[in-house]
Amino acid sequence: MTAKRIDGKAAALTIRQRVAELVPAFVAKTGRAPGLATVLVGEDPASAVYVRSKRKATAEAGMLSFHHELPDTLTEAELLALIDQLNADSTVDGILVQLPLPKQIDATRVIASIDPAKDVDGYHAVNAGRLLVGLDAIVSCTPLGCLHLLKSELGSLEGREAVVIGRSNTVGKPMALLLLGENATVTVAHSRTRDLASVVRRADIVVAAVGRAEMVRGDWIKPGATVIDVGINRVPTEDGKGRLVGDVAFDEAAQVASAITPVPGGVGPMTIAMLMRNTLVAAHRRAGLKDPEGL
Ligand code: NAP
Repeated sequence: MTAKRIDGKAAALTIRQRVAELVPAFVAKTGRAPGLATVLVGEDPASAVYVRSKRKATAEAGMLSFHHELPDTLTEAELLALIDQLNADSTVDGILVQLPLPKQIDATRVIASIDPAKDVDGYHAVNAGRLLVGLDAIVSCTPLGCLHLLKSELGSLEGREAVVIGRSNTVGKPMALLLLGENATVTVAHSRTRDLASVVRRADIVVAAVGRAEMVRGDWIKPGATVIDVGINRVPTEDGKGRLVGDVAFDEAAQVASAITPVPGGVGPMTIAMLMRNTLVAAHRRAGLKDPEGL
């Protein structure tokens, strides 16, 4: 079998276009465009690239992008003061603090200081808790993007065996809760899981969010499974430029799976699309409007 390549780029574009279509109606109702504030602390080149893409997508959707770029000598108190200011600013619907933060700043305290209504990354304990108990929440963009791809590919997920590899607060855990919400039977694997290959072999749905290049091999995959690869790992190449690979050995897994996301071009673009979606949704909720339809 050669698996279908799930086109995350195309799916992301459709969502971003839908967000852009819905922005004028929000402007007509409220007299202002939704606004996303991005906060970048320090000089991490990968973070700078991510934030640039997020700002570009925001502008392309017709939303306002407010950017704050700060030195890596910034103190935690200074960052918390900026968050207070953004929380109080009625033109800001979403606040995105790009992680990682420099070591003198406690990311947990920073996330806790964001108004949950503006927490478009879905990292605040209030949003994580609402997801856990099944209330409307702003859900972390990457797992939300993975779920969208899975539902587009498979339709109903009810009763399917899903294995999520990784239990981070930002990807693995919310992914597991979203799958549970769709009535899948969910196993969460992690670094202490025994015989990971056998656990993965049971899965109709595999979501790999580990951060280890090509760890999941083709012979771990159940024939016909759907594989979502969240991992982004740079591996060395002879020309010294390096190349991005996922957590799944793509060529091997594609021989066995029925559908699989590539890296790059799978989950990555969906993360940004879902950030646009979350910003528009947060803007609607803050304005007391119904959630926009078709997102
Ligand atoms: P993380 O916080 O480092 O979590 C990694 C998880 O993998 C942990 O739960 C860890 O288990 C588990 N793990 C590590 N080694 C393992 C092993 N040998 N076997 C089984 N499980 C193992 O990472 P993350 O933030 O969730 O991100 C995971 C990957 O996704 C990274 O490559 C990251 O770059 C990528 N990512 C991509 C996007 C995107 O937009 N595409 C967004 C976010 C993240 P323990 O809990 O036991 O330590």
